[in-house]
Amino acid sequence: MTAIEYAMFRILRLFRKLPINILGFGNRKVIFSEYFKDFEKVEAVKGIFGDKTTEVLSNLTVEISWIFGYMYVDGSDGHLVISKGYLNNGDKTDIYLDLIHELCHVKQFMEGKELFDPKYDYVDRPTEIEAYRYCIQEARRLGLSEERICCYLRTEWMSDYDFKRLAKSINVSC
Ligand SMILES: [Zn+2]
Repeated sequence: MTAIEYAMFRILRLFRKLPINILGFGNRKVIFSEYFKDFEKVEAVKGIFGDKTTEVLSNLTVEISWIFGYMYVDGSDGHLVISKGYLNNGDKTDIYLDLIHELCHVKQFMEGKELFDPKYDYVDRPTEIEAYRYCIQEARRLGLSEERICCYLRTEWMSDYDFKRLAKSINVSC
């Protein structure tokens, strides 16, 4: 097994612990550490919260929602909102990296930072740059190629121009 296969195996194992039945109507609220098992043992997550990792994850509310899209941190109380469709059908590596990214926002929220500061465009916002840098560092540690990382960064709602600016400011050559 190559290093990258092993890294992917570890990620998939994290997701195998997801409760299978997340159907049902309406949005459902769960606790992060009860839903995503063993994330408190992931080095990249410990790198965000340090000694407080277990405490933070067991107090973090996750809303599994019918929203279209991916996931985000709610700026009013710092809880995590995840699209049910994305969780069910999205690429597990992408979801893992998104979770790392969003957990950075959770930390920023706890520090009192403004997550959606309208003074900045999305790709220039310091909180986004920090979260992207951190999750890309994890992507590289896992052994993802630059091409795969670019693929991860490219989303349909981001213009080509913004995508290139973002890639440049987080030192990814796309
Ligand atoms: Zn973000």
